[in-house]
Amino acid sequence: NEGVGSWATRRARMSPNRVALVHGDREWTYAAVADRANRAAHALRGLGVRPGDRVGYLGPNHPTFLEAFFGTGQLGAVFVPLNLRLTAPELAYILADCGVDVLLYAPGQSSVVAALRDLVALRHTVALEPGGDDPDYATLLGRAGSEPLDEPVPLDGTCVVLYTSGTTGRPKGVRLSHGNLAWNSFNVLIDVDLAADEVTLVTAPMFHVAALNQTVLPTFLKGGRSVLVPAFDPSAALELIGRHRVTFMFGVPSMFAAIAAAPGWADADLSSVRSMICGGAPVPEPLIRTYQRRGLTFMQGYGMTETSPGALFLRAADSADHAGSAGTPVFFSDVRLRDAAGGEVPPGVHGEIVVHGPNVMAGYWGRAAETAEVLSPDGWFRSGDLAIVDPDGYFHIRDRVGDMFISGGENVYPAEVEEALYQHPAVAECAVIGVDDDRWGEVGRAVVVLRSGSTVDPAELLASLDGRIARYKIPKSVVFVDVLPRTGSGKVRKSQLRRAHSTAGD
Ligand code: ATP
Ligand code: MG
Repeated sequence: NEGVGSWATRRARMSPNRVALVHGDREWTYAAVADRANRAAHALRGLGVRPGDRVGYLGPNHPTFLEAFFGTGQLGAVFVPLNLRLTAPELAYILADCGVDVLLYAPGQSSVVAALRDLVALRHTVALEPGGDDPDYATLLGRAGSEPLDEPVPLDGTCVVLYTSGTTGRPKGVRLSHGNLAWNSFNVLIDVDLAADEVTLVTAPMFHVAALNQTVLPTFLKGGRSVLVPAFDPSAALELIGRHRVTFMFGVPSMFAAIAAAPGWADADLSSVRSMICGGAPVPEPLIRTYQRRGLTFMQGYGMTETSPGALFLRAADSADHAGSAGTPVFFSDVRLRDAAGGEVPPGVHGEIVVHGPNVMAGYWGRAAETAEVLSPDGWFRSGDLAIVDPDGYFHIRDRVGDMFISGGENVYPAEVEEALYQHPAVAECAVIGVDDDRWGEVGRAVVVLRSGSTVDPAELLASLDGRIARYKIPKSVVFVDVLPRTGSGKVRKSQLRRAHSTAGD
C-alpha cells in the first residue's frame, strides 16, 4: 500500500519525534499526525465511508485538514477540500457535483453548513469542534482505533477531487490519483531541492492545489515542518517568517505583492529564507525584482490543478538570469507548445501549453466530454494557456487563450500589457481586457487600481507605455476602479471585468 494515506505512518516510523506541523502556538509531531490520521480513518469507516466515497472538508489551514486527508486516503476514499470563500449555493453545487457523503467542517462554518442542509443531501456532517448537534471530530477520534488500516489502495486510485479556481467559469472537479500527488511531490523535491530541515510557511489555503501538493506534502516526505496559517495577512506572514525561521514558501503574486507592501517589509528578518516560489497567475517582473533586491531567491512556477499542479519551474540557479520566465519542465513531465491545429511551434512563436507526465490528472469528476476535450488519448493535457519558448528553451507564459484579443489583426496578450502598466509608479493593480471597436475589431481597455494617494491622468498613463510595447498593444481607454474582482486564490476574474467594462465609452 503505497497510497498517500500511508505517508503519515511511514514518516512517523522514520522520525516520530520531529515536528511535522505548527499552528499558532502548538506543534504536532509526525507520531501525533500519524496517530490522528489512523484514528480519522477508523472514525470515517465507522461512519460508513467506503473506498471511493467522497469526504468533504470545509475549514481553514489546520492540522485536522491533514489528518483527515491522510485518514481518508488510507481508507481508499476520496478527499474533497472545499473553498471556504464560497457561498452556500456555490458549495452545494460542488458537493452535489462529486457526491460528498460526509462533510467535516470547522467552527465558524456552522451557519453555512446549516444552509447547505437545505440545498444538498449529506449523509453525515461532523463538526471539527464540539458544541452543536453534530457528532464532533475529537470524540469520534477518541473512540477510534489508532492502528493503521490495511486497505489496499492502488496508486492510480483517486486520492482527491480538487476544484479549479473557477477563473474562467464554474470550478471543475479534478480527479488526482495517489500517484499524481506522489509524482508531483517528487518533482518538487528534485526541482526545489527541499531539505530535511525545511520550514515551510503555508499561507495559501490548502483547498487549492498548490499549498497542499506543492509545499506541505513534499515537506512532509522529507520530514520538515509546515507552519500552517489559517488566514493570510501580509504583516503576520513577515512576523511568522522571522519567528519560525521559515526557509521556504509558495504564494500567488497578489500575496507576495501584499507582503512587499506591508509596513514591516524593509526591516523584517528574512535571513532564514532559502527560496520562495511564486505562481498561479502571471508574475509581474517588478515583483520579481523587488524580492531579488531584498536578497531572496524568488522562483517562478507554472502549473494548474489538472497537473497536480507543477508543470514548469524556474530553478534557483536560473532565477536571476531568466527573471520573468516560468522556466523549463519539471523533472518528470514533458511540456510542449502546440498551434491551433495541434502542430509543434518553433521558438519565439506563440502556442498552447500541453503537458504530459505522471502528474497529469485522471480526468474531471463526472465530466467525460470535458475531459476528452482537454486530455488526448495519448495523455497530453491542453492547458488553455499561451506561451512562447525562447531560444534557450525557457518558457514565457503569455496569457489564457480566452483572454487574448485581436486588434487590427494582431494578437494582444493582456498579461504583457499589464506587465508594462505595472512599471508606472501610480499603478497598484491592473487588468487589461479586449473591447469591441469599429475600426480595429477589438482594442485594449485598462482597468486600474491606483496606489493610495496617487493620481494619474489616463492619457499620461497610456503615454507611459509608448516605446515599451508596440502601438497596437497599448489600450485605448482606462477605467479606474477601487478593487479588481478576484477569485479566492487572488486571480483576476476577467470575464466579470469584461461584463462590467466592455461597453463603449464607460
Ligand atoms: P478555472 O480552470 O476554473 O478557470 P484556474 O485555471 O484559474 O480556474 P487553477 O488550476 O487554480 O484554476 O489555475 C491554473 C491557471 O493559473 C493556469 O492555467 C494559468 O492560467 C494560471 N497560472 C499558473 N501559474 C502561472 C504563471 N506562473 N504565470 C501565469 N499564469 C499562471
Ligand atoms: Mg484552469
